[in-house]
Amino acid sequence: MRVIRTCRRMGIATVVVYSEADAGSLAVEMADEAVAIGPAPAAQSYLVAEKIIDACRQTGAEAVHPGFGFLSERADFARACADAGIVFIGPNPHAIEAMGDKIASKRFAAGAGVSCVPGHIGEIDGPAHAAEIAQAIGYPVMLKASAGGGGKGIRVVRQATEIGEALSGVKAEARGAFGDDRVFIEKFIENPRHVEIQVLGDKHGHVVHLFERECSIQRRNQKVIEEAPSPLLDAETRAAMGAQAVALAQAVGYDSAGTVEFVAGQDRSFYFLEMNTRLQVEHPVTELITGLDLVEQMIRVAAGEPLAFGQDDLAIKGWAIESRLYAEDPYRGFLPSIGRLVRYAAPEEGPRGEGIVRVDSGVREGDEISMFYDPMIAKLATWGATRQGAIETMAEALEDLHIEGVGHNASFLSAVMDQHRFQSGRLSTGYIGEEFPDGFHGLTPSDAQVDVMTAAALAMQRVQARRNGRSHAVLRSPRARDEWVVVLGERKRRVRIADVAPELVVELLDEDRVLRLEGVDWAPGRALLRATLDGTPFVAEVAPAAEGFVIRHRAARARVLVLTPVSAELHGRLPPRKAADTSRQVVSPMPGLVVSIDVATGDEVKAGQTICVIEAMKMQNIIRAERDGVIKQLNVGPGDSVGADEVLAEFA
Ligand code: ADP
Ligand code: ADP
Ligand code: MG
Repeated sequence: MRVIRTCRRMGIATVVVYSEADAGSLAVEMADEAVAIGPAPAAQSYLVAEKIIDACRQTGAEAVHPGFGFLSERADFARACADAGIVFIGPNPHAIEAMGDKIASKRFAAGAGVSCVPGHIGEIDGPAHAAEIAQAIGYPVMLKASAGGGGKGIRVVRQATEIGEALSGVKAEARGAFGDDRVFIEKFIENPRHVEIQVLGDKHGHVVHLFERECSIQRRNQKVIEEAPSPLLDAETRAAMGAQAVALAQAVGYDSAGTVEFVAGQDRSFYFLEMNTRLQVEHPVTELITGLDLVEQMIRVAAGEPLAFGQDDLAIKGWAIESRLYAEDPYRGFLPSIGRLVRYAAPEEGPRGEGIVRVDSGVREGDEISMFYDPMIAKLATWGATRQGAIETMAEALEDLHIEGVGHNASFLSAVMDQHRFQSGRLSTGYIGEEFPDGFHGLTPSDAQVDVMTAAALAMQRVQARRNGRSHAVLRSPRARDEWVVVLGERKRRVRIADVAPELVVELLDEDRVLRLEGVDWAPGRALLRATLDGTPFVAEVAPAAEGFVIRHRAARARVLVLTPVSAELHGRLPPRKAADTSRQVVSPMPGLVVSIDVATGDEVKAGQTICVIEAMKMQNIIRAERDGVIKQLNVGPGDSVGADEVLAEFA
């Protein structure tokens, strides 16, 4: 999608290749031509170089942009393109080979004088070798797939007893995702920040850097929020990091856009992690602060043009932030969520207040988020003259987002934008674990947010009452018309309301305050309600629920009931319904594919023991026993696909 956009602007015709799962996708619709290349699993379509080259021959395409995933870091694919007389829009195969593999690139970087993470720069043979090396480096260590990317094939190991299982897990994940299970070990740097340098080279020996991005907000080593520049760096560190990245790129003859990743200490020490020899998912933030289009630069360089600027022509303008909108349910431990996007409305692109909003998305309403590829729905990026401005615009853009049908992390992203720690730039890759130690449950609404939710619920209730023609029977009696009880979580508020057009005045009877609501823009069935409360405009995402509404405002979400004083008296007196007893069952927490079953019928298992491994969206999830017991029955086997909440095994 990203590439199609740039090509359109440059007047270049596009052909996309697609798997069966993507036949109805937006990319297929937007491209000038589209070629089907096989079944949904990537190994049978997107990862088959020959099929892509055939598609080029068939359509007469002159060049291939490989995007961020799949074949983008495969030197043999770049070579196969060259052999077929097709331009590969990316670096030369030698650079991919030297940098595209983590073990090889570390050896190379160490040779080029770049500071590297202490560790063993070589392949691990087996569990005994791993234990020996980890002991020598000192725990904690990190196991990494040499071919890894996108946070897959990485595991932190804190003690010797865990290393065997971690090694086989990383190997299995790497085999599945990259078809290459070589693993190495390095020291795990505690409390680090992820800072990376964007480099750009041409075929004439010029290399510049386009400053840094900070990507410390990660979950499971996968980036969630990125920004440029980094709040950590000062001008001196920026120059030193940039110079190392450029030196590395120059040493390897780098001739495209690429990223040199570092882990940095809070003291601004930094160590080389890896080089990604492709366009990076988070490239929009760099584009927003430099005004360059990186895809256009890649195309120009691939066509043999020299860079039109030098390092001194480049400067950082303002601040940019990107949020990755994932199909994962933050309220259920961020489990991948798949399904149809029943509703999908993204914020409007372009200037917004003092800032700018950009949306990169490959989906539209009605599309399916499948289990076959990454769980990313869209990326929202915002620009501001200052970091605070970019954060504020992001918080607003997230409010304008509305999704139904799949779980998504928008409220989580909003929560981070609202956090004081994030706003003050005290980041670390441990941020999410530290700030949300028990997972994410939505934020408790602040007092101001409770006011917004109260007002929104009352406004909707009145709109509905008017529609239902209850204006006479119900609204005539002064008491019934005026007094209500709004229940929001544990809170009950008695209110009296008066329509003083164009305002709705809400008197909070126990607090001796009034709320003034104006300009309500909402109708039944609409998911976003806009209005102004006490002079401040707001947006709330709303959905009807029994007797009331579910309202999300920023990161806070609550069920809000509007009751008459009489029903409010009764409310909360009935005991909650008892949940079904599932303690004898092992259920799948998400839809996916069973990779292995690690127990047999009749086995005695201990709490914490692995029952089976389920793969969804390229992540292997180990399902463990939650209690001790004997396995009475297994309902699934390797290769089966399972649904969310499906019973996998039963205890006696
Ligand atoms: P990194 O964490 O190495 O910086 P990114 O976060 O930029 O990587 O994500 C890119 C990685 O994710 C690639 O290495 C690729 O394997 C994977 N990837 C990205 N997008 C897709 C996609 N749409 N389908 C499959 N894999 C993808
Ligand atoms: P990928 O190719 O999947 O992006 P990386 O090597 O870039 O793999 O690592 C991904 C993330 O894991 C980094 O952004 C960083 O947060 C964390 N990480 C990687 N190596 C280390 C390390 N040695 N110590 C601490 N954190 C690390
Ligand atoms: Mg990385």
